[in-house]
Amino acid sequence: MKIKLLPTTFNHQGQACSSQHLSCFLVDDCIAIDAGSLATATTVEQKKVIRDIILTHAHLDHVAGLPIFIDDLFMSLSEPVRVYGLKEVIQILEENLFNWKLYPRFSELTNSYGKVLTYRCFNPEESFSVKHLTVKAIEVNHKVPSIGLVISDSKSKLAITGDTANTEKFWNVVNSEENLSAVFIECAFPNELAELAASSYHLTPNLLEKELKKLDKPCPIYIINIKPMHREKVISELKKLNNPRIKVLEVGKTYNF
Ligand SMILES: [Zn+2]
Repeated sequence: MKIKLLPTTFNHQGQACSSQHLSCFLVDDCIAIDAGSLATATTVEQKKVIRDIILTHAHLDHVAGLPIFIDDLFMSLSEPVRVYGLKEVIQILEENLFNWKLYPRFSELTNSYGKVLTYRCFNPEESFSVKHLTVKAIEVNHKVPSIGLVISDSKSKLAITGDTANTEKFWNVVNSEENLSAVFIECAFPNELAELAASSYHLTPNLLEKELKKLDKPCPIYIINIKPMHREKVISELKKLNNPRIKVLEVGKTYNF
């Protein structure tokens, strides 16, 4: 399985900047997990094939690119963009984003081929197929209804927390999985902002260390969703944890599992 955390910004040479403002993973060039930078960081070729988007939750840094992605492709879509999410997440999108005020309600619109956006709701703890992937959604502990994911193909399996504070269910499911290739886990804030992390339901390096004690798989651990303003501080505190399995996921780099 190929996975890449799409960049939010690029430097003058067109290379990905390392800070992550938005969240969007591209899996095997055709499936998106979250849609933060989906419209702006994908190539024309990728836009032609990405039709399946799995949302972890409805926060703006995870969905910001979705309306523009659909808008840019509107006339050319010969099949609808399929958005997978908890029913609460879809409801938030319909009420607050695709509400004709902030943006058109694409789920009600058609082009000459038919619908341009359809929703596929799933329940927590449910497994479903998205193209060649098997996807399991697990409730995590964030300010709004949110899920983490276990995604697998015939060769490899990844667990991704999305945004979360301390959680139990996610680790119970992850520990029950065979042949886990890697865990991607958030660490938004540095230790000095533990209070802000608690009120916004995120992790700090100290909290992350406690979470990782619940993981009984020997796989590599990649850190995601570090707030850009605190990136260096968080990375230096992660190093102090002295855990050789912990690496920061590089923005814009393709990983093969
Ligand atoms: Zn969030």
